[in-house]
Amino acid sequence: MAETCQALKRNGQPCTAPALASSAQRRCFAHDAGAAAARQKGGRGTSTAARMARRLPPELRELVGRLSGWLGDVEAGTLSPQQAGALSALCSRLLDLCKLAHELGQSAELEARLTELEQRLAEPPPARSGRW
Ligand SMILES: [Zn+2]
Repeated sequence: MAETCQALKRNGQPCTAPALASSAQRRCFAHDAGAAAARQKGGRGTSTAARMARRLPPELRELVGRLSGWLGDVEAGTLSPQQAGALSALCSRLLDLCKLAHELGQSAELEARLTELEQRLAEPPPARSGRW
């Protein structure tokens, strides 16, 4: 079932992106995400965006919701492409910082594990109370 998105693009042309199998309104990711943000206001979180957000660190989860909302706003024409561009630039900066924080966190964790391994190697092996 290769369906096409049922939504209209901002220029009024039909959207040509493939519809998501999970989209009740047979919309593509971009259009479904916009709808998802609207649905989220109603307290539901079963959308693709919500599923995706669960894999993200908490500080980025909120961002996904906001991005989806802005996507809908741009589609609806209530947010200008210029404003969306500025927001998008700020989001990328935030994302860069999150990535950096994540990498720093990972290297700290690796370092701790390495130290633990080194300590274990330095210790004499535990005495075997085996039945040899
Ligand atoms: Zn679409």
